[in-house]
Amino acid sequence: MMRPGGELPGHVPTRFWHALEHGRVQCDLCPRGCRLAEGQRGLCYVRANVGAAVALTCWGRSSGFCVDPIEKKPLHHFLPGSAVLSFGTIGCNLTCRFCQNWDISKSREHDRLGERALPDAIALAARRLDCPSVAFTYNEPVVSHEYVVDVAAACRERGVRTVAVTAGYVEPEPRREFFAAMDAANVDLKSFREGFYREMSSAHLAPVLDTLRYLRRETAVWLEITTLLIPGANDSDAELDELTGWIVAELGPDVPLHFSAFHPDFRLRDRPPTPITTLRGARAIAHRNGVRHAYTGNVRDLEGATTYCAGCGARLIERDGYELTAWRLKDGACAACGEPLAGHFEQSPGRWGARRLPVRPEQLAP
Ligand code: SF4
Repeated sequence: MMRPGGELPGHVPTRFWHALEHGRVQCDLCPRGCRLAEGQRGLCYVRANVGAAVALTCWGRSSGFCVDPIEKKPLHHFLPGSAVLSFGTIGCNLTCRFCQNWDISKSREHDRLGERALPDAIALAARRLDCPSVAFTYNEPVVSHEYVVDVAAACRERGVRTVAVTAGYVEPEPRREFFAAMDAANVDLKSFREGFYREMSSAHLAPVLDTLRYLRRETAVWLEITTLLIPGANDSDAELDELTGWIVAELGPDVPLHFSAFHPDFRLRDRPPTPITTLRGARAIAHRNGVRHAYTGNVRDLEGATTYCAGCGARLIERDGYELTAWRLKDGACAACGEPLAGHFEQSPGRWGARRLPVRPEQLAP
């Protein structure tokens, strides 16, 4: 697939915008609604006013590829044990002070987009590398909407599944098109407080909750949620009680929830790493509120990494880090009591293990 170019290399026209006066335009892709004068870029950096229209400036260019374990996204109920061809572009529409990928998401250098990566080549590379899925990750994929949707279409044509790792901060119309191209998503729910979203990410909570509801109620996309717990910022028992109660009430008990450990980074270096007791406490609150599958992440915690049967409590999938160490599923259900496990499972687990394999640009040659 070769998209017709825009006015400059790597630029393609976009649809989600409207004209303002004097050649200015407003981008309608995400709730920020950036208003852009000629030549100006939006907050996400990759969408810009080019010739009185909004263009995506990074189509067909990647900031890097790697084969990862699917557990690293994290997805625990989608093809466990399998390899996922993961890639990113640059840019993000949030400004999280605690960003754990800031070198890519906040990059202002097109040098980072060194790798030419056309959709067909990515899909073929996934097949060649024995990856049943491709993940749009490392930076926020919704801002590269047209590119991501084209890559996803090429993957689907070749029987490769697609995964979005996203903050879910996107307007309803592009959201429909974006997730129609996805088989699974891990959405960050950064906090359950509007004040946190405003102060830490200069964003709002409501559009994210809206995306979660949309995914669960109106699509077949397999959904898991991640909350990065930052000491003193979003880890109070009261907030976690509200957050997990909302998930069960609005999304049901089967959406897996990952509580992930924070490591001081970017502009938030004055907070300590998240203690494992906080992660375990959050998991206990989630279970108390009816979440069936709550996990701890970014730490070694065998108990918090195990998938349990919601029927009989058997240990269905055991993990040590990103490595699967036991598998007691039969046809996607508990081998002991037959209770189905929510998610997408093959007959046997993937055998990729914990490896992380960087992919060289020449491996993406069409
Ligand atoms: S996608 Fe980018 S340019 Fe468009 S509104 Fe959001 S931050 Fe602004």
